[in-house]
Amino acid sequence: MIPANEVLQLFEQTGAYLRGHFRLTSGLHSPEYMQCALVLQYPEYAERLGRDLARALRNLAGESAINVVASPAIGGLIIGHEVARALGARHIFTERDASGRMILRRGLSAASGEHAVVVEDVITTGGSSREVVQVLRESGANVVAAASIVDRSGGRANLEAPHTALATLGFTSYPPDECPLCRQGLPVEKPGSRPVLSR
Ligand code: ZN
Repeated sequence: MIPANEVLQLFEQTGAYLRGHFRLTSGLHSPEYMQCALVLQYPEYAERLGRDLARALRNLAGESAINVVASPAIGGLIIGHEVARALGARHIFTERDASGRMILRRGLSAASGEHAVVVEDVITTGGSSREVVQVLRESGANVVAAASIVDRSGGRANLEAPHTALATLGFTSYPPDECPLCRQGLPVEKPGSRPVLSR
């Protein structure tokens, strides 16, 4: 198992550990951001992180064989697929419909009685993973565990299933109206939303 500090080293090494003023998917503001796509662009690292998450999930799931791994798109796609590969399981993913509701599309489904796990790249409040847990339960699947590469909640997020992470961090994040960086007048950035311009 890769120790948490090596996971963070991997983020530093690939430029995925960003510092500045960011608006997270959860709506909270933070001086730090983990851009997982920059780590996962290397299949070798994705495979290694997937193998480690698979091992951690097997420990959490105990005797239950894991049939299906489910992830929220887009962040959970690559890591979820690698975890499924390591577990010898299937990988499915959820997307948001026009009203913002998390759903399974493209004919993907979980069957009643299947043992499922939820895998995401980073959790902050755990909101997306929790929605995937709900989608799976509505399908009748038995959600045995959840996991992420990074848990920014310091382990406090409630995913309504036992969960684990390769690195658990107590990162600072603020509601926008209490954000000290906003008060300093620093422009806020939504990571990943701005294309890199070629020179
Ligand atoms: Zn702010």
